[in-house]
Amino acid sequence: MRTIISFILAGAALGLLLSACGDSGDDSGAAVHVTATTPQVADFVREVGGDRVAVDQILSPSSDPHEYEPRPSDAATLADADLVVSSGGDLDSWLGQVVDASGTDATELTLIDHVETRTVDGETDPHWWLDPRNTELAVGAIADALAEADPDGAAGYRRRADAYLKELRDLDSSIAACMSAIPAPERKLVTSHDALGYYADRYGIEVIGAAIPSLSTQGQASAGETADLVDTIKRTGVSTVFPEEGTSAKLERAIADEAGAKVGGELWTDTLGPDGSDGATYVEAMRSNTAKLADGFTDGRDDCAEALGG
Ligand SMILES: [Zn+2]
Repeated sequence: MRTIISFILAGAALGLLLSACGDSGDDSGAAVHVTATTPQVADFVREVGGDRVAVDQILSPSSDPHEYEPRPSDAATLADADLVVSSGGDLDSWLGQVVDASGTDATELTLIDHVETRTVDGETDPHWWLDPRNTELAVGAIADALAEADPDGAAGYRRRADAYLKELRDLDSSIAACMSAIPAPERKLVTSHDALGYYADRYGIEVIGAAIPSLSTQGQASAGETADLVDTIKRTGVSTVFPEEGTSAKLERAIADEAGAKVGGELWTDTLGPDGSDGATYVEAMRSNTAKLADGFTDGRDDCAEALGG
């Protein structure tokens, strides 16, 4: 740990030195510099901020936030930020040490503090954005924070937030329409880790289990737990096991094989994808997840294309 922190400190010092030499990046015209942790948080800030806001995103697309180890350049990035926006909880708990190392005086906005959270065995589930109504709350908090950092841009942030909120409400109602068209006994979910609790609560899906029975991908299943999950899949008639983007699907495939279930499309849970992928933005990722889930739940009978407007 000490090595990591001194590494970060050295990097931060180097970053400050470099920025003192003249930061001629193409975002120099931006009114606010924001550092965001995960791709989905960065996407929300870009939606609200538009051209006035330069967004530095710490995590690359398709990477697992639970296992991220900060780089020296992260502290340097933070040192230049006016506002730091994090997802919160176990997902980006590594941010604290980077903030300390960077010496930044940026305002910090932790989105999980502004949403409705669920608790599992006394632990707060950090995957709040998988219920679009929580994303609406987060977008409101981002608009307020940007307006405070840049009062001249406040009206524009509010306008952009309102347009995005409308898109999020449409997203929520189209997912609800898609899922409610599938008979409840078919809506049984097995994923890589316990990431989809908010989505399942919102859209009436029963979570049967996860290859890693934990809110973090850093958890591990014992051989007994994996065997129990295989039995439960067989007993409850789960048709499909869904791997998640950003994690290895090895265990999921083995479990599906053993239980005689199919392997479904990879879900965008803790990350978003690169440009051009079906998860390049939050809205695209949620639509794509819903289509993959509907396809898996119904054995390809329903791909939800109509309800999703696709
Ligand atoms: Zn997760």
